[in-house]
Amino acid sequence: MIMNESKLLDQTKALAAKYLQELPERRVFPDAAALGELEKLMVPLAETATDPEKVIQRLNEIGSRNTVVSNGGRYFGFVFGGSLPAALAANWLAGTWDQNAGMKVSSPIGAQLEKVAGRWMLDLFGLPASSAVGFVTGTTMANFCGLLAARQYIYERKGWNNKAHGITGAPPIRIIVGEEVHASMLRALIMAGFGMDNLIRVPTDDQGRMIADKLPELDESTLICTQAGNVNTGAIDPIQAVCLRAKEKQVWVHVDGAFGLWAAVSPKKHSLIEGLEMADSWAVDLHKWLNIPYDSGLIICRHAKVLQAALSVSAAYLPDSGEPDPYFYTPEMSRRARGMETWAALYSLGKKGVVDLVERCCGHAELFAALLEKAGFRILNQVTLNQVLVTFGDAALTNRVIKKIQEDGTCWCGGTVWKGITAMRISVSSWMTTEEDIRISAAAISRIANQEIRANSKPVIA
Ligand SMILES: *Cc1c(COP(=O)(O)O)cnc(C)c1O
Repeated sequence: MIMNESKLLDQTKALAAKYLQELPERRVFPDAAALGELEKLMVPLAETATDPEKVIQRLNEIGSRNTVVSNGGRYFGFVFGGSLPAALAANWLAGTWDQNAGMKVSSPIGAQLEKVAGRWMLDLFGLPASSAVGFVTGTTMANFCGLLAARQYIYERKGWNNKAHGITGAPPIRIIVGEEVHASMLRALIMAGFGMDNLIRVPTDDQGRMIADKLPELDESTLICTQAGNVNTGAIDPIQAVCLRAKEKQVWVHVDGAFGLWAAVSPKKHSLIEGLEMADSWAVDLHKWLNIPYDSGLIICRHAKVLQAALSVSAAYLPDSGEPDPYFYTPEMSRRARGMETWAALYSLGKKGVVDLVERCCGHAELFAALLEKAGFRILNQVTLNQVLVTFGDAALTNRVIKKIQEDGTCWCGGTVWKGITAMRISVSSWMTTEEDIRISAAAISRIANQEIRANSKPVIA
């Protein structure tokens, strides 16, 4: 049995290694022929067992042709990032160990590595060392946890016992967001039971940053949701100014920092995110810019006891280890040991490596914008982080260029609408991306855009 398992893993390793070797040459998105193969998987479940080797062969045959190569160097659609070698390897080992990281008694190593990686992250971001850190699936869930903690804090101040009475009939909470709030923050608000009609939306500037002077009156029932890293422009809300206002009334400030929080690790970019440490809760992704396998994000909360109270659970069978267990700070009980990959990634990079990863991506974004601008196309945003918005003309033309570049397979970029203008959206977040990848991709985009522009301007033959 064990021998067979070892053979199976060897074969799997060979398949994985082949995939990684082929990354640079792989199409970024599957072609139509490959996509057609997906139908072959839609068969009834067999009555009898299938040999695991065969199962993996089948998975590889159809699966490896139908991936999106988002862990290669030329995937610029959405803010994704790839997988660092140490993180991927740790993910394999963690999977083999099959650890449940919810409690120290279910995984001493899982709990310890989350503690260590959590401390390292607080240090990197310059956040209070006593903050609670919960390893969750991503920023959507981290935002959700931050909201629950904020709500707990407000209800406690108002003397409302939500654990006993629930939220129906509770004192109202005023929620402030920027006009450019991320869709996932809204989703988290809805999950937490807050209605969209009641949101107070603060106007934003030309880059999508909340204008601090336009904040309404604050009071003890207010919660402010700020954003670090607008999905289109990469812009960061003026967190310091917001926090200074909030402090007067002890108002909770949450930061949705899915990718923008990483600006804090870079001496070059830190001024964009001044005052970050003054907030109360922070959400950040690890699977985006730290280049950790899915799924991984952190909820960080200055008030550990409040987060714990918001997510509290108690039962006679649960151990009391005298010290916080990982499940205190996440909504799940059982879950995989995400801290292992995070620890491995940080350990392998070192502080300098983390800074370099962030600054390199920002530099690549600047180069991308410069090359496209030089080719005659209009950049719509100030490229301060890892995001570039480019337009090629009217909406129809820009959408055609996006579709053609996606079909071309050299690289993958998505579309968006920014301030009424249809644009191609470029995010540089992979550790693998090289300057050459940027040059190859910018050349492909320029070539396709020029073809489309020429096709567009051909005189109609009467
Ligand atoms: C990506 C992103 C999210 C959502 O994060 P997930 O990890 O996909 O849940 C939230 N906010 C911002 C600003 C993002 O960029």
